[in-house]
Amino acid sequence: MNDSFIVLGGGIVGLSCALELRLRGADVTLLEAKDCGGQASGAAAGMLAPYSENPESPDEFFMLCRESLELYPGWQRLVRKLSGMDFEYTECGSLYAAYHEADLLALESRLGWQRRHGSSGVILRGEALRAAEPGLSPSVVAALRTPEESHIYAPDFVEALQAACLKAGVVIRERLGALEPTEWERRAEVRAPESGGEAFRADRLVVCTGAWAGAWSGRFGLRLPVQPIRGQICAYEWEEGRAAVRHMIFCSQGYLVQKANGTLVCGASEDVAGFDTSVTERGIARLLRWNKRVLPALETAEPFHRWAGLRPATLDGRPLLGRLERAERVIFAAGHYRNGILLSPVTAKLVADCAEGRPPQPWQRAFRPDRFGAAAAGLR
Ligand SMILES: Cc1cc2nc3c(=O)[nH]c(=O)nc-3n(C[C@H](O)[C@H](O)[C@H](O)COP(=O)(O)OP(=O)(O)OC[C@H]3O[C@@H](n4cnc5c(N)ncnc54)[C@H](O)[C@@H]3O)c2cc1C
Repeated sequence: MNDSFIVLGGGIVGLSCALELRLRGADVTLLEAKDCGGQASGAAAGMLAPYSENPESPDEFFMLCRESLELYPGWQRLVRKLSGMDFEYTECGSLYAAYHEADLLALESRLGWQRRHGSSGVILRGEALRAAEPGLSPSVVAALRTPEESHIYAPDFVEALQAACLKAGVVIRERLGALEPTEWERRAEVRAPESGGEAFRADRLVVCTGAWAGAWSGRFGLRLPVQPIRGQICAYEWEEGRAAVRHMIFCSQGYLVQKANGTLVCGASEDVAGFDTSVTERGIARLLRWNKRVLPALETAEPFHRWAGLRPATLDGRPLLGRLERAERVIFAAGHYRNGILLSPVTAKLVADCAEGRPPQPWQRAFRPDRFGAAAAGLR
């Protein structure tokens, strides 16, 4: 690829796009307002769970998630090799817990379509369920086990991605303050008003600014309805090498996932609080209440760490992926909401395909960044 690219935003999405573009031969400069991985990507639980996250139907979003899960083994191997760094990637499968017989019907119907789409899931009950997950509360009547789902330690993985980008020759500049696109018709130009107005130029621009992407609604003549949804999350200390859970555990109220260092991560609340990443008593208390209903061993446990991050949510819950029709030099990769860690490899692939001029597949229309229409008059 002969074009040069500016990638705006150094979360998992920006770093993945930068790496893939560079590996396909482009000159790439990644510009980050603060520190790479310092926002949603560093806060995430790291679950790669397209089946548990998509209970309804095999729509375009599920297909995107599943394709990304399939890319993960190779993608994480590549990042490991290029960076020379180690990080956790655990293929442990998941359990989706049901507390009432009435919920079984929904699990069975989900299992029906998911087995036609790559899952080898089964419903576990009674002895089989207790043997698979001994610590689970007796009030869980059944669970859907999906062996294909996995998780990654997101902060370490993002650090390794950044190292892989540098090794591959991506130029990374951090702590520039919020950058502003100033030109996108004849070439791409962005400026850093908080860093003395420094200007950066390239042939094309890839926007990966996560929950901040909505700030540019109107900028390209388009509505870009992206808003931050705060996720509060906490972790319990657990003895390293001793299993609190063998699977990732999901239920209608949240999830529990144990990391290789023993930490049991439990998330996550959802609320609208602008760009505030503080943790509230109320948000965490709800998590603590239901944790005990999943794992009785947590009855008296207190989390040792609580934190929050901002999920980038679009109006329809789907990411903005692809080239803008009104501004051909601009490619969007933002708005990955609850699944940006999972979706990062497929996003990088689609962005690089788009940069190479490959026409999008018909199903990709569901993610067009201009699908929300033109901006109201007066907005630029
Ligand atoms: C509590 C929590 C748990 C989660 N768990 C999971 C999970 O288990 N699995 C999963 O798949 N997903 C999960 N997610 C979602 C996932 O974290 C996000 O979808 C993903 O991190 C989004 O990545 P991103 O790179 O788009 O955004 P971010 O990581 O937020 O990165 C965007 C970057 O852009 C920078 N930026 C913004 N504006 C500008 C500008 N003007 N100029 C330059 N830089 C700018 C920001 O500083 C930031 O570093 C979770 C999220 C939260 C909050």
